[in-house]
Amino acid sequence: MTTPRFSDSAALARFFDSARALLGEARVFDSASDGATYADQMAFDTSRHQPSGAVAATSAEEVGSLLRLAAQHGVPLWPISRGKNFGYGGSAPVQAGAVVLDLSRMNRILEINETLGYCVVEPGVGFYDLYDALAERGHKLWMSVPGNAWGSVAGNALERGVGPQPYGDHAAQICGLEVVLPTGETVRTGAGAMADNPAFHVTRNSYGPGWDQLFCQSNFGVVTRLGLWLMPAPPATMSLSLQLPEADDIERGIAAFQPLRLRGLIDHDAAWVSYVGIASYIGPRTMFWDGEGLLPESVGAQIRRDFGLGWWNAEVNLYGEEAVIAAKAKAVEVELRDKGIAAGEWTVWREGDPITASKRGIPATRDMMMIDWLGGRGGHLGFSPVMPSDPKLAAAQFRRTRARYDEFGIDYYGAFGVGGRQTVAVNEILYNRDDPDQQARVGALFEALIADTHAAGFGEYRTHIDYMDAVAATFDWNDGAMAQLNARVKDMLDPAGILAPGKQGIWPARYLA
Ligand code: ADP
Repeated sequence: MTTPRFSDSAALARFFDSARALLGEARVFDSASDGATYADQMAFDTSRHQPSGAVAATSAEEVGSLLRLAAQHGVPLWPISRGKNFGYGGSAPVQAGAVVLDLSRMNRILEINETLGYCVVEPGVGFYDLYDALAERGHKLWMSVPGNAWGSVAGNALERGVGPQPYGDHAAQICGLEVVLPTGETVRTGAGAMADNPAFHVTRNSYGPGWDQLFCQSNFGVVTRLGLWLMPAPPATMSLSLQLPEADDIERGIAAFQPLRLRGLIDHDAAWVSYVGIASYIGPRTMFWDGEGLLPESVGAQIRRDFGLGWWNAEVNLYGEEAVIAAKAKAVEVELRDKGIAAGEWTVWREGDPITASKRGIPATRDMMMIDWLGGRGGHLGFSPVMPSDPKLAAAQFRRTRARYDEFGIDYYGAFGVGGRQTVAVNEILYNRDDPDQQARVGALFEALIADTHAAGFGEYRTHIDYMDAVAATFDWNDGAMAQLNARVKDMLDPAGILAPGKQGIWPARYLA
């Protein structure tokens, strides 16, 4: 079994023994099969990031004690909320042999405040749990959910997950955290720094520096409680399905959405999704074509005809008072017409209609069907650059990315979530883990995409654990001054260097010596 750097099997055994004394037998998982359970289930080689095992905390106090034990025994801990970060590493740590700190049993919804529009959750609360709780209370607040909603509300927000709903920038909705620092002390951010302050989860402009975002995509603390703003249920929605017939149409697709988003006429990042992605939710590729190599364009055209798809597909939703959104709908139609995009009929939903009538923050896992695209034991890897919502830049990024997919023989599947200022591209690389030839091609494709995107001048907003150093290295302004600042903060907060070493390319000093 691999042991993490600066640790050995004796230290790991001592850590697990003392964790057992703290937590009892039932919440310590240190057999080889336990380690395999927490490995990256989407990887070709699951041993690459296989942890030694896991320990499951049920309170912030236990998290603090476990961090102290980790420092005492020199064992790295990797926190997960529900561990469903698929495409970016799942529940697995950067370093093989690290111990997973599983928070999925801390799954209480601490508060739902319908008047002020927020909820407070522990890390193990899943999107389904929160949805059920909101449904029980009559759907007065609506959620934003990622495409695959198996994971946790907190873990996803902390990783800056996105959804196609109005509050779809999940990290931006965070307000007020409770965090256990690597040395074991617990802090509350913002207004929560004052005991029992009722403004804990309603303001980010409390006294002093704002710390919430420092715990997103970092390894500076373990979040044990998270406030998240939720949108009030609108009295009505209007939805429009749109299609663009050709691959190169992505440029006018982005040109149409960007000003609508910036001016507030649409209040969510509508995403243009390429047809292969949608086909992969319908069935495996053999359902459409039984050949080898890239899906031929003629078969693609047939799939689009058979299922009424465009090369790119999007849904625009308007939320609010019916008279207001009806007026917005007119403005949207004008903008679309101006860009030569055909708009059909809007679908209207009104309060009281069945809530399942359309896509409105209802958690689903259908998107995971994509991993069956090439048969065998499927997997996927996400490549996610962020760029200005500039149609020419985004179209160039698309063409570059697609050319690389073609070069490495992988069917292109990308989606562009268009904001008023930024566009996030989520490119899924779908593969069959039983095919070693695909393993080499997927790795080469990913490295080419990082280099191409860096050469174009921008970077990823999030990446898989395999590529955290490579992507961190692309943020290189002023000799990597930002990386140096991250490293300094890391050493100050985590002098023993035991919390998630290597996450986001941030390593404790001794690893850098
Ligand atoms: P999800 O449950 O939504 O699938 P994960 O639990 O897989 O999300 O978390 C994704 C990543 O986010 C983890 O690998 C970890 O690096 C970070 N993370 C998750 N939860 C926490 C937390 N409570 N505190 C600090 N970091 C966290």
